[in-house]
Amino acid sequence: MKIVDAKVVVTSPGRNFVTLQLTTDEGITGLGDATLNGRELSVVSYLQDHVVPLLLGTDAHRIEDTWQSLYRGAYWRRGPVTMAAIAAVDVALWDIKAKVAGLPLYQLLGGASRDRVRTYGHANGASIPELFDSVRALLEQGYQSIRIQTGVPGLKAVYGVHASGAHAANPTRLDQRVLPAVEDWDTGAYLRHIPSVFEAVRNEFGPDLPLLHDAHHRLTPIQAARLGRSLEPYDLFWLEDCTPAENQDGLRLVREHTTTPLAIGEVFNTVFDYQTLVGEQLIDYVRSAVTHFGGVSPLRKLFDYAAQHQIKSAIHGPEDISPVGMAAAIHLDLAIHNFGIQEYSGHTDLTNEVFRHAYTFSDGHLHPGEAPGIGVELDAELAAAHPYQQAYLPTNRLQDGTVHDW
Ligand SMILES: [Mg+2]
Repeated sequence: MKIVDAKVVVTSPGRNFVTLQLTTDEGITGLGDATLNGRELSVVSYLQDHVVPLLLGTDAHRIEDTWQSLYRGAYWRRGPVTMAAIAAVDVALWDIKAKVAGLPLYQLLGGASRDRVRTYGHANGASIPELFDSVRALLEQGYQSIRIQTGVPGLKAVYGVHASGAHAANPTRLDQRVLPAVEDWDTGAYLRHIPSVFEAVRNEFGPDLPLLHDAHHRLTPIQAARLGRSLEPYDLFWLEDCTPAENQDGLRLVREHTTTPLAIGEVFNTVFDYQTLVGEQLIDYVRSAVTHFGGVSPLRKLFDYAAQHQIKSAIHGPEDISPVGMAAAIHLDLAIHNFGIQEYSGHTDLTNEVFRHAYTFSDGHLHPGEAPGIGVELDAELAAAHPYQQAYLPTNRLQDGTVHDW
């Protein structure tokens, strides 16, 4: 079975998504997500200009060989653009293989290890009352685990707090260009405020609700150690991305000072980014996305490595992972033994029309469905009706104007 066609589809049904569609000489199609938020078109070029010419005529069943030849053959390894492109090929080939088998992908990964996939949702509010409303709304939707993000007194716009009201940070428009929104930051104010937020949430919602928090790579190791320790009375499910992820050694210092569980890895692309963290058991959850880690094949290997150190999965799943990437994640979540939790925010109705999917969400849990393959179909006409829109992630500056990690 040969690959005879490979199309890269860019669509923006509210936000940008990049999808690779492979077709075989038997007329079977497979989809892979290649969305890299804020740098989408670089992956489009990587695929169209450099990968598609290599794929045409190759055996669609040779997933591992194709992966290795794209990874090793380019000489230039790793990095988010390269690994998003390879991920799209890997997932599209798994989609094809599972369709040929007439089975949902999770069956080819060993079958279900659980009945359903636990998720967490994102609650946020500029103030404590707004945050409580957001938590209540998620509980009504069925969520049973919740990430907590709030505004910080004195700061105008903070990561994870939805832009609303007078303090929203919006992208600016200059000539024909859209420039990133600029948020602001003060680590001292944040560290003083956050423990009181979790105290308030525990008092309102009780001791049993699993709570998560994302520091978005903004703290030094010693600051992160202080935060982890100050949050211990509130029994977090995890503290996420507490320090800049490039410095694996920094997590050692955090770990020495706190028993708050740690999660990291959404910006990682390969197992090499985890060697110290997993090998020395410095974290509790690995956070990489199928979409940015080279696909299902390498992420499965990472989870097997993590399992040797009692570390669990927590696949990255915000709105900028397309339903194609989300579907692949849910199949993997269902199949692996050391599943931890799945991030899930859902998509807009329009996005769900462009990408019709078999996976379902109820009672705070996902299931991939029983459709052969990953269970997603792309509506090409509707996708084409919503072309690419230039967009950036926000940037972040300290109050004196210094650029900070965002
Ligand atoms: Mg995060």
